[in-house]
Amino acid sequence: MRKLELHWQILIGMILGIVFGFGMTYIEWGRDFVQDWINPFGTIFVKLLKLIAIPLILASLIKGISDLKDISKFRNIGLRTMGIYITTTIIAITIGLVLVNIIKPGEGISTETITKLTETYASDSGVTSKIEEATRQKEGGPLQFLQDMVPDNAFGALSDNSLMLQVIFFTIFLGISMLLIGEKRSKPLKKFFDSLNDVVLKMVDLIMLTAPVAVFALLANVVVSSGDPDLLLALLKYAGVVILGLFLMIVFYCIVVATYTKKNPFWFLKEISPAQLLAFSTSSSAATLPVTMERVEEHIGVDKEVSSFVLPVGATINMDGTSLYQGVAAVFIAQALGFDLTLSGQLTIVLTALLASIGSAAVPGAGMVMLVIVLESIGFPSDKLAIGLALIFAVDRPLDMCRTIINITGDATVAMVVAKSVGKLGKPHVKEWDEYYGKDKNS
Ligand code: ASP
Repeated sequence: MRKLELHWQILIGMILGIVFGFGMTYIEWGRDFVQDWINPFGTIFVKLLKLIAIPLILASLIKGISDLKDISKFRNIGLRTMGIYITTTIIAITIGLVLVNIIKPGEGISTETITKLTETYASDSGVTSKIEEATRQKEGGPLQFLQDMVPDNAFGALSDNSLMLQVIFFTIFLGISMLLIGEKRSKPLKKFFDSLNDVVLKMVDLIMLTAPVAVFALLANVVVSSGDPDLLLALLKYAGVVILGLFLMIVFYCIVVATYTKKNPFWFLKEISPAQLLAFSTSSSAATLPVTMERVEEHIGVDKEVSSFVLPVGATINMDGTSLYQGVAAVFIAQALGFDLTLSGQLTIVLTALLASIGSAAVPGAGMVMLVIVLESIGFPSDKLAIGLALIFAVDRPLDMCRTIINITGDATVAMVVAKSVGKLGKPHVKEWDEYYGKDKNS
């Protein structure tokens, strides 16, 4: 019998998880049951993905750089990547701002709904913690992010998943130095990392075998933990604008893939879909990174020289979905609370949402922390911040799930574009999890 393709298996797991989660909300002990007995399987899966993220970045980036043989090529890839990342993010914010200004979702929202949302969420720890976190992040000077990128302890950086940019910095430094000592002397190290890279990619295959069950658990938990359905409905128009914007971004990526890389965009979406479904289920680009890398390299055919740099950097700094959401959310809050937003205010949003999406961590809910900074940059009164966030808090998780899909799809698209531009977009070479097992042990 033909095996069902992975993305179908995951999709079925997701749908069953949602249905099961809904069913459990009708049973008195259902919520606790899901949280105690089902959710741990989802958590374990996310932990496994995070477990291999740092070894994968280290091994694949070193392999990528040491295969280059010429440092100027690396500078070329780096500059192109940054340029395209910034351009796609600005396009995303602009789409968001245009939609929210045309549809004006904030104007129809009634005072009762605003009061109800404020009462329910303004003092919720989910909202207050985001404001505190944003205040903490703002304390540094303008070059703080550069300072934060350089580790003072390589092992310290390697032992902390939230320090991905530090790991990338250290790895690039190591890779370039390996190029400089020449092939012969760097060979033992290169061989070690090449082998580590193969092993970690195999670990991704093995973890993905459990993905359908894991997404069942993750989504059942999202459903039983979600808020009051009436409040969710009140925010439908706002959520609709964000989702429409995100959908237009997918259309934009498809156009880019078709016109620039000359590949079929539906093929692209199909090959990347397991990563997209995981991004949706985990709300974390960082947790999805190993799968995004595996799909882009093995299933789409982007050479490691490109993907090993573009994707980990993209997971941390390129967030088209998040920046689009920040633009829409900021204007929605301003509209709902009657805060006057001038044209220059909107242009400020473009700039700060660009910086904020670069600064957002690739974890669930991070986009909302940086939204605080976007709101402050347009002069939104700080005593009303909690009310502003309370307005959108109820739908933040589902929107986070959707924007994370766009974040990783944007990274994959840029990886293809950069690869094409430097002649490194080749043929896919899919590897099954058990292709060597029990066969040729020396291959
Ligand atoms: N969850 C998003 C990500 O990991 C970030 C955000 O928008 O909150 O890409």
